[in-house]
Amino acid sequence: MNIDLSRRGFLGLAGAGVAGTSLGAMGFGAAEAAEAAHVRAFKLTTTTETRNTCTYCSVACGIILYSKGDLRAGEKAELFHVEGDADHPTNRGTLCPKGAAIKDFALAPTRATTPRYRRPGGTAWEDITWEAALDKIARAIKDDRDANFIAENAEGVTVNRWTTAGFLAASGSTNESAWTTYKVVRSLGIVGFDNQARV
Ligand code: SF4
Repeated sequence: MNIDLSRRGFLGLAGAGVAGTSLGAMGFGAAEAAEAAHVRAFKLTTTTETRNTCTYCSVACGIILYSKGDLRAGEKAELFHVEGDADHPTNRGTLCPKGAAIKDFALAPTRATTPRYRRPGGTAWEDITWEAALDKIARAIKDDRDANFIAENAEGVTVNRWTTAGFLAASGSTNESAWTTYKVVRSLGIVGFDNQARV
């Protein structure tokens, strides 16, 4: 359809449109309600935000986990969206493809969520509780360290070494947890200490 609109007519119509929009924005008449009705609610408004660190690599980008469910009311958190933390000094809101897909990693049905143990000579892994896993690790640490700790070398110099055990740390740690790990490992006398990302 052709509309024969003069320049003066066009300016008049545009002016009327602007006036109507402005009146609506200021709360006049039904315009405001009509305008509000077609604006979709921001989907993250009512969610719980949890800040964390990407678990994948030594860049340690900051992420924000969005979940439904009020934990303080005893409800279960339901993760449904993850994005980069714009306030984080490392990544400023950006994520690489691995980090951007971390929700699928967190919710994967094949993800291990409990410690697993394979008995000596066994062929299958069995789920055990966190308490049982911690007890086993503590027992193994104590027994091996007691049996192999070297307090002095052959010249009688104090060395406090424990060389029959090693420790592999993960890179997706905060500075605080990495520092705590370092202190625990070195205070035990462990010499073989490495990191998955060699940082
Ligand atoms: S988002 Fe990518 S670059 Fe950042 S920590 Fe995760 S894997 Fe590393």
